[in-house]
Amino acid sequence: MKSEIERIVADVKSGRTSARAEVERALAQARERDELHCLLEVCAEQALARADQLDVRIKKGEPVGRLAGVPYVAKDNFLTKVGRTTAASKMLDNFRSPIDATAIERIEAEDAIMIGKANLDAFAHGGSTENSAFGPTHNAIDKGRVAGGSSGGSAVAVASGIVPFALGSDTGGSIRQPASFNGVVGYKPTYGMISRYGVVAMASSTDTVGPITRTVRDSEIIADILAGQDQRDGTVYPRYFSPLTESPDGKRIGLIEDFIGEGVDDDVASRTNQLAQRLRESGHQVDLVKLPMAQYALAIYYIVIPAELSSNMARYDGIRYGERSPEAHRLDDVYGMSRDDGLMPENKRRIMIGSYVLSSGYYDAYYLKAQQARTLLIRQLDKLFESYDFLLSPVSPTPAFKLGENTHDPLKMYLADAMTVPASLAGLPAISVPNGRSKAGLPIGVQLIAPAKADAGLLAMAKQLEVDDA
Ligand code: GLN
Repeated sequence: MKSEIERIVADVKSGRTSARAEVERALAQARERDELHCLLEVCAEQALARADQLDVRIKKGEPVGRLAGVPYVAKDNFLTKVGRTTAASKMLDNFRSPIDATAIERIEAEDAIMIGKANLDAFAHGGSTENSAFGPTHNAIDKGRVAGGSSGGSAVAVASGIVPFALGSDTGGSIRQPASFNGVVGYKPTYGMISRYGVVAMASSTDTVGPITRTVRDSEIIADILAGQDQRDGTVYPRYFSPLTESPDGKRIGLIEDFIGEGVDDDVASRTNQLAQRLRESGHQVDLVKLPMAQYALAIYYIVIPAELSSNMARYDGIRYGERSPEAHRLDDVYGMSRDDGLMPENKRRIMIGSYVLSSGYYDAYYLKAQQARTLLIRQLDKLFESYDFLLSPVSPTPAFKLGENTHDPLKMYLADAMTVPASLAGLPAISVPNGRSKAGLPIGVQLIAPAKADAGLLAMAKQLEVDDA
């Protein structure tokens, strides 16, 4: 499918339109779709000022960047000098960042224009954007349903036509799952391909940064701009990413059987099978493969990730960061009351689980065991990639569920992550591409996973999954 970003940039540079007109259009659409609550803050004034500066440069014939005049939004866990950075929490309600995240710096160096900050589950803990302290985002296709999460605001901003791309973060599926719930593309790069500096940390061993777009080509453009080393994030690989020009053919693809069987919605399973058939017809080999460790992926994830995030969350103590409870006068109360006021129930639940599994009496039984099981999962994936170039599966067992449907049952909520967490735990690149609609008209996504660092091949292959009527 054709890139929207390239079209806008070409029009802005040639003078067919202006950066100001593009930003005004995005702002008007944001107002039009205000009821979806996908943006926590709109930075109209700053965006228009930047657009005007850019238009002046274009008129003078000065060189401009690869994203000239393209409006975008960033998930509100990206530090930005413009506006506030709340991570959708009361804890950071009034936090203004003195710096931009590296991803923001790189995008803006190419002259894209941020028009606002997108809603999320507070601190990215969740899969529906219902854990936002500022109220949920609604699904772009069906307002009675969840946006998915935690990058729900980013996905809805793209799906509802406000911006052609949004930045999100994906620790266990937070780019891919909301993308699939809203019928857009969500790409999670290999762990370490893109700097996470300046993104509010969730789980340090699986946090990634990536784009949500309407076409795969647009995700590729953003990845190309973001990839590469950053002195401020020691986990980033030297740049290895470079978009492929050739379309892959005759690839070996493993369709993960464990993810199209029991417990998976019929529409989701049948759309996935139909896509597999289409890929066979276009000359690829698609075999059913087994990933037995997949049944433990959620259990592993919901031990390892709370452990890591409980440590990352320790900084929100009402002293160094965060709103301090006005009623707290003793030190213990400063910690306790500020956290009680500033954090959502899901944040607290995860801090408690994480502290528990790391405590001296339970470390071996839970945390260590989970890390061992994680290694076995990684080995099984490695083994599959000896015989296959890609793995294919749905993104989530069901299309978007109703608002409120799972809020009182965290375990049921966690099930929505079953298919996205394996790639996260193994650090593998994975992308969610729209794969048609359910009988009720809800978007369904398909996930393609590649070996570590095979991001360019993943995106090239993902273009073949796109269908124009999806
Ligand atoms: N839904 C998953 C969770 O709740 C993923 C979150 C994420 O990727 N930030 O942990």
